[in-house]
Amino acid sequence: MEQTFVILKPSTIQRSLIGDVITRYQRKGLIVTGIKMMQLDEKILREHYAHLVDRPFFPSLVDSMTRTPVIVMVLKGKDAVEVVRAMTGATNCRKAAPGTIRGDFGMSGQENIVHASDSPENAVIEINRFFKPEEIFDYPMPTFNAIYAPDEQ
Ligand code: UDP
Ligand code: MG
Repeated sequence: MEQTFVILKPSTIQRSLIGDVITRYQRKGLIVTGIKMMQLDEKILREHYAHLVDRPFFPSLVDSMTRTPVIVMVLKGKDAVEVVRAMTGATNCRKAAPGTIRGDFGMSGQENIVHASDSPENAVIEINRFFKPEEIFDYPMPTFNAIYAPDEQ
């Protein structure tokens, strides 16, 4: 089953929203297969946000993403990348639809609560960038047969 990569950004940590955000993923039926707190630095952010390094806001983005430790997560589910991106909402929280995480919890374009992988290919790259293989777990979920029909598993 597909896995995707999420960062709970410093805005989430400082606003005490860690539990609220993780609860949204768990209620949806996504399975947490990896989770840890870590301090990001400019080096890893230049890789992770390589598509943005030349943008004028990049220094501000680095300041924002290094302000506190973050929580990085791997979530597993059918079509997990697409599902989690849909739950995330538009980049600017003020434009994000109500019901999405950004739409419900934020007011900023930069301080936008979470990162989520935007394609299955990038999910694999990002999981490998932030997690060692032994930090990802496969374990039985008693609720699995209530979350998915047999032909979806
Ligand atoms: N960002 C920003 N200003 C912008 C565009 C992006 O501060 O004009 C920040 C924002 O925190 C965003 C991150 O850079 O989440 C990565 O941008 P991307 O376009 O990949 O958006 P995302 O995939 O996070 O929706
Ligand atoms: Mg992106």
